[in-house]
Amino acid sequence: MPQQPDRKKTATFWIMFLVIFGIMNVLIYNRFVKQQVAEVGYDVFMKKIEDKTLEEAALSSTQIVFKDKSGNVYKTGLMEDAQLYERLYKSGAKFGAEIEEPMNPLLYYAITFGVQILLLVILWKFMMSRLKKRSGDDPDMLSFSLGGGRGRGTGRIYVKSKNDVRFKDVAGEEEAKDLLTEIVGYLHDPEKYTEIGATLPKGALLVGPPGTGKTMLAKAVAGEADVPFFSISGSEFVQMFVGMGAAKVRDLFKQAKEKAPCIIFIDEIDAIGKKRDASLSTNDEREQTLNQLLSEMDGFEGNTGVVILAATNRPESLDPALLRPGRFDRRIPVELPDLKGRIDILRVHAKKIRISENVDFDTIAKTASGASGAQLANIVNEAALRAVREGRKVVQQDDLMESVEVVIAGYQKKNKILTNKEKLVVSYHEVGHALVAAMQTHSAPVTKITIIPRTSGALGYTMQVDEDEHNLMNRTEILNKVATLAGGRAAEELIFDEITTGASNDIEQATKLARAMVTRFGMSDEFDMVAMEVVTNQYLGGDTSLACSPETQTKIDHMVVQIVKEQHQKAREILQQNVQKLHEIAKHLYENETITGEEFMEILNSSENTLLSGMTQE
Ligand code: ADP
Repeated sequence: MPQQPDRKKTATFWIMFLVIFGIMNVLIYNRFVKQQVAEVGYDVFMKKIEDKTLEEAALSSTQIVFKDKSGNVYKTGLMEDAQLYERLYKSGAKFGAEIEEPMNPLLYYAITFGVQILLLVILWKFMMSRLKKRSGDDPDMLSFSLGGGRGRGTGRIYVKSKNDVRFKDVAGEEEAKDLLTEIVGYLHDPEKYTEIGATLPKGALLVGPPGTGKTMLAKAVAGEADVPFFSISGSEFVQMFVGMGAAKVRDLFKQAKEKAPCIIFIDEIDAIGKKRDASLSTNDEREQTLNQLLSEMDGFEGNTGVVILAATNRPESLDPALLRPGRFDRRIPVELPDLKGRIDILRVHAKKIRISENVDFDTIAKTASGASGAQLANIVNEAALRAVREGRKVVQQDDLMESVEVVIAGYQKKNKILTNKEKLVVSYHEVGHALVAAMQTHSAPVTKITIIPRTSGALGYTMQVDEDEHNLMNRTEILNKVATLAGGRAAEELIFDEITTGASNDIEQATKLARAMVTRFGMSDEFDMVAMEVVTNQYLGGDTSLACSPETQTKIDHMVVQIVKEQHQKAREILQQNVQKLHEIAKHLYENETITGEEFMEILNSSENTLLSGMTQE
């Protein structure tokens, strides 16, 4: 199969070479070797004189070298011939001149042969390098012929990547690394395990949100164990082999065994490993592929040296058969990094850029709370790009801070024009959030407030950074958060006696929180510890689906409205009590467009009470 086209190519090469080699040699022989001086009898010489076909002759004391009119050169011995000169003269031939005797034919042939061999070697090398690049015989490639292998070309799907990723490049994720170290050990020294009779996991499933380094970890296992790493994504598999998925799975395992020890990485395995269900709209093709995958994983011995790693961010959609021991029996969670993890990831990526020594990674990691490894890598790169844009040679703290905002809220929209009135509303709205947050003791302090529009659609935002990483949130904290979210709208109501569309995102978030309190966190008196909603998509946005009766749903809705209403009222009261500060800080923000947490606290703690006179007018 994969070798066939290559053998054909090699055979074609040899046939072509032999034909060219043959033709060249015949030509050389005719043109040069045959023309070499042939030793003939004196009679031939005389005959040529008589026929007047002699062109010229050179006479020495021992021999005669002569050339006929066709260009052939001969030589013959000297005879006693008194009339020789006279006859030569009559025949019209030139004589006396010395004819240059051509090179020894054997030497000549040896040189041309050498040149041909050299040519052959160069051609062969060129041919081999081309073949290596294209064929599936390359040790770096597992290949499959498409369309039954006849005439439709070869598809390379498992590509060995240049593997220089090591565990040290994957920051954080210590638990995942611990779990994978055993696989590395096994690939390194399988005897240690086989001696004792242990069978190693055939496969491990890396589960986690996108961009947390699953692919990187799989590569790092291969890098550490120094074995080839072949990767394919599940969707590619489905797309490339329409109608022949099962056959290709078989092929894959066969070839992988030949290349063992090696790692096969299937990204997005949910594309082929989705739960088989009893619904009418089943996908036969995918199911067959999955069945084949299941039976192959069962069939191959645990100690062949092939380890299958797969990644998914939808583990709940995988077929249970895939997860049973003997198949993907290791499930390795790769979660979003915690504070320390984020600092480490930032440091790992900062090594690749020129960065100022006094950059405080701690602050950046705190600000980028909830960011994945991929986002953090992006933040560092964005910062480097910003430094270049600003004509600097070194990345600084504010480059990084700005790029965190870019990742959170998008780029600044410099050409978005807000009317003065809009700017004023946004200022009050944002300060409303900040003030409510600051006035509730349990809320995190404000780090930055800005009213520069962003590409995400936000006209302004308030950034709150927790001092410490929170893993738990208590009831009061959630309620405070809802109040903070309501703070923007409350400020608008209080100052302008009018409300705008600017609060839509706050409303969404506040509702989500209040709803989760009732349906998932068991924080309502009425439902106690009963789950009314289940999370269906843990790693991709955390979608939920309701699991209760329509009557309960109505009750839930009432309770959610109640929570939000109460917190909205609380926010209004806080702002009413601090309306002077609200004016003061909003004025500052309106004028400066951005204020930092320190500036905010300074104004908040100052005793000055400047009223924002006339500012409510456009
Ligand atoms: P996934 O497969 O989980 O979606 P990847 O492994 O493809 O994520 O990660 C994408 C990129 O994010 C990597 O190339 C790397 O630059 C960065 N990254 C993610 N996690 C980490 C980590 N723990 N340490 C260092 N870089 C990381």
